[in-house]
Amino acid sequence: MNLARNVSTADFQRLDAAHHLHPFTDTRQLNAEKSRVMSKAHGVWLWDTDGNRYLDGMAGLWCTQIGHGRREVADAVHAQMMELEYSNTFFKTTHPPAARLSEVVAEVTPDGLNHVFFTNSGSEANDTVFRMVRYYWQLQDKPAKQIIIGRKYGYHGSTVAASALGGMDGMHKQAGMVPGVHHITPPHWFDFGGDMSREDFGVWAAKELERAIDELGEENVAAFIAEPIMGAGGVLIPPDSYWPEISRICSEREILLVVDEVICGFGRTGKWFGSDTYGLKPDLMPIAKGLSSGYLPIGGVMVADRVADVLIDKGGEFYHGYTYSGHPAACAAALENLRIMREERVVEHCAEEAAPYLQEKWRSFADHPLVGEARMVGLFGALELVPAKPGRTERFDPVGAVGTIARDFSFANGLIMRAVRDALVISPPLVITREEIDQLAKLVEKTLDDTLAELR
Ligand code: PLP
Repeated sequence: MNLARNVSTADFQRLDAAHHLHPFTDTRQLNAEKSRVMSKAHGVWLWDTDGNRYLDGMAGLWCTQIGHGRREVADAVHAQMMELEYSNTFFKTTHPPAARLSEVVAEVTPDGLNHVFFTNSGSEANDTVFRMVRYYWQLQDKPAKQIIIGRKYGYHGSTVAASALGGMDGMHKQAGMVPGVHHITPPHWFDFGGDMSREDFGVWAAKELERAIDELGEENVAAFIAEPIMGAGGVLIPPDSYWPEISRICSEREILLVVDEVICGFGRTGKWFGSDTYGLKPDLMPIAKGLSSGYLPIGGVMVADRVADVLIDKGGEFYHGYTYSGHPAACAAALENLRIMREERVVEHCAEEAAPYLQEKWRSFADHPLVGEARMVGLFGALELVPAKPGRTERFDPVGAVGTIARDFSFANGLIMRAVRDALVISPPLVITREEIDQLAKLVEKTLDDTLAELR
């Protein structure tokens, strides 16, 4: 098949349908509808092969913090590839980009996280977590401490261990569960809060952790893993009372706190990390996505000094690693991305300019007849769609159908949003301007109106 430039959209769709199994996709349904073929991107905009333009309201998959198409990143990767395109980090070897990046991530992450284990993705970072916490407790002469507590609706990736840590039923049903993982209720007041006030529910949901530790036996529990704000679960923002209570429990109980910053990290919540936003002190902190703004695949696990000391002093060889752990070109992309983020004050732009401006518009969507809740922290938000106001008691049946209709209207209108059950989710590049936010808000409004008209 000729892949030259004049091959048409239909040709790509045909190739795709014949050979490509997409992630998290019903392939039969996709092949009936045909894939959109994206071919170009710049700033917050994407274009498909038919010339349609889309505002990238999802920053790719919550990753393109600096926006698309930055030549400096491409140049840095090119230069690195011409110098040293690949060298491993096993066998007493390192290389300049890996060494430099390990210093830079130690600088930008919260205090006390001064070591990093590099991976290629967030999923691999959480697989690494799985092994690291168990190994840590073995080294502490507490090998019974094996159970990791996660949360329903949590998402920690798609490898076998990472999907087990997450709380997505569909994934568990298709592949089975890994033993030694337990899930508790997420701090999502809208769905689970019942008659409780938001803040009372936050404390209740945090105490679920305490109850689980008691039930499972503290001597058997290794760690609690959680996203500061749950992303793939639907941008579930915890009540303010939640994290202080979790922090109290983690400090009183002998368990590790794993804060999955794969989405929240690198500015999404308006501070460098969700841990900064909520005052958390992670023992382990998986990172990925915004680390390179998605320009090349790279992730890692930040390890707190108190844990790294044990692993290094007592551990001997850690039998774990990936061929591409600390890949030179991926490290170069991440280094350039972080240089841009620091020098261009991307996180400050998010916190001081873009987030307050979008949040004000976002809150106003709560008045729309379809919206039961409009929530956002930093540039990370969702609109909970409901059949009737105020919304917490009545839901669409089947769950998710209306979210999908709205998501499809959004695409047709030129805005990429994602639907999680019946929530419309947004997470634009952090560099989005006021003018682009105005355009985004108009497209959201049109999407809500189109969806409402379709339902009437
Ligand atoms: N952790 C969180 C919080 C995520 O949202 C994701 C992906 O969306 C992952 C881990 C997995 O990352 P990756 O898709 O890079 O494997």
